[in-house]
Amino acid sequence: MPLLAIVIPVFNEEPVLPELLRRLEGIFAALPGLACEVLFVDDGSRDGSVALITAATRDPRFRLLRLSRNFGHQPALTAGLAHAAHADAVITMDADLQDPPELIPDLVAAWRGGADVVLAVRTARSEGGLRRVGFELFHRWFGRVSDFPIEANTGTFGLLSARAVAALNALEERHRFFPGLRAWLGFNRAEVPYERQERAAGTPAQTLRRLFRYALDGVFSFSYLPLRLVTYSGLVIAGSGFAVAAFFAFRRLLGVEIAFTGFTTLVMLVLFLGGVQLIGIGVLGEYLGRIYDEVKRRPIYVVRQDNPPAQP
Ligand code: UDP
Ligand code: MG
Repeated sequence: MPLLAIVIPVFNEEPVLPELLRRLEGIFAALPGLACEVLFVDDGSRDGSVALITAATRDPRFRLLRLSRNFGHQPALTAGLAHAAHADAVITMDADLQDPPELIPDLVAAWRGGADVVLAVRTARSEGGLRRVGFELFHRWFGRVSDFPIEANTGTFGLLSARAVAALNALEERHRFFPGLRAWLGFNRAEVPYERQERAAGTPAQTLRRLFRYALDGVFSFSYLPLRLVTYSGLVIAGSGFAVAAFFAFRRLLGVEIAFTGFTTLVMLVLFLGGVQLIGIGVLGEYLGRIYDEVKRRPIYVVRQDNPPAQP
């Protein structure tokens, strides 16, 4: 029987886990002809999540992979995909039930219909406030900024076939932006629309700061636009600088007296140019820091315990 693995990163999700487990069990019944394995990747939870998952692993369809500390959503997802390479298809989803498990049969149907990459596409989302504004701005702009098309309104939720997982696992970069890497893969793609739910319980495990860094990873991993913007603004400033210089040089040659006012202009120019240069250095630094991280070649995550041990 083909094996479907469901990879779920978990960080302090004790309040939602009972309902998640219950709803996943309901889904198994809706997937005839498929063996299912749920791989929970515990990303250094400090609450009762591990105990709950360990209790669930009495059912051999549930499996626990523990990382040695909190590495973050993307590293946890990477760990899960690396440990699900034996499956014929892998579902990736969040633990908080914002991605409804009830959509899994539709994702599987699209995979059976020949798609290697099935994307769950949000038609609506239920977050409010700053998060919502941030998500909407990001998805509106990111498509235009990235060097190749990345589907808008997609997140972690979706399905990858065995060969798509193998291709993804072969990518070694450390700053991982999953939707971008998945778009980079190519293959036959299918989309399944869904409404993103409210978090079932608990508070978002990802802080706004982390989400912002994640958005930056998306931009800097998939776009040279920031560098190009620095070049363009340099060209514009150098061009206008040349024009202004020529203007004053001519006036001097024509014998026009130099006026000794202009202090305000000088201060503004110095501060403006200094600021632009610092921004340029900052943009370079973003790329440089990422290059440094790649060169160090540290592993993306460290496994503390794989329970039960991975099948050969
Ligand atoms: N998560 C994780 N490590 C972290 C933060 C989050 O494994 O450091 C998991 C979390 O348990 C959830 C998923 O990643 O399953 C998405 O997190 P969250 O719901 O907080 O993010 P958002 O919905 O805001 O993207
Ligand atoms: Mg969430």
